[in-house]
Amino acid sequence: MRWIKYSWLALVLAPLAAQSTLAQPAPPAPQTRFVVVLDAAHGGDDTGGRLAHGQLEKSFTLALSVRLRSLLAARGIPVVTTRDSDAAVDPVKRAEIANRAQAQACLSLHTSESGSGIYLFVSSLAPAAPARFPAWKTAQAAAVMRSLKLAGVINSALLHAGMSVTLSRTSLPAMDSMTCPAVTVEITPEQNHETAAGLDDKDYQARVAAALAAALLEWRTDTGRTEARP
Ligand SMILES: [Zn+2]
Repeated sequence: MRWIKYSWLALVLAPLAAQSTLAQPAPPAPQTRFVVVLDAAHGGDDTGGRLAHGQLEKSFTLALSVRLRSLLAARGIPVVTTRDSDAAVDPVKRAEIANRAQAQACLSLHTSESGSGIYLFVSSLAPAAPARFPAWKTAQAAAVMRSLKLAGVINSALLHAGMSVTLSRTSLPAMDSMTCPAVTVEITPEQNHETAAGLDDKDYQARVAAALAAALLEWRTDTGRTEARP
């Protein structure tokens, strides 16, 4: 007897519920803010390598992060940094900061005297489907395909700026724990047939920062296009 009443009630209410759903305006689409995370590698006691001109890697990466942030801010791109000072930040904390920001691009910045041009590293984790609770140390697996695309966009921008680029895969604790499209960028001296510039060359530093900013602007357009597709 009871269920008859309830099912009758359900029959009456169901169309009403459907109507009221139809009558309501569609909820606003969630704000997809384009945010970039800049991760200046090393810091504090972890100095990184010593560069030929005496600067420490930790200072070089921080200076590049600051420069790139202002270039992006001038183009309306909000930036979250893993450090703004000479502080030691462990890989877990770096990934935590990046993951909280829900960024569309995460760049870890390194530099080294050994090598030639720019090296781009994407996590060597095998691609995996996104999980509700991804394992912390392999969280990047779900983003690795997008990271490869991001590396491709950065590669094009650097080549366009006349730089030599080497793309490869590697495993780094901070990058492997990030859920955003993530690329590690290592800047080494420029030694191609047209130009040779050391890491202390101000013009080279400016060109690298400008090319990375151009790449991120292109990436913003690309991700915007992807989101707009039905
Ligand atoms: Zn380094």
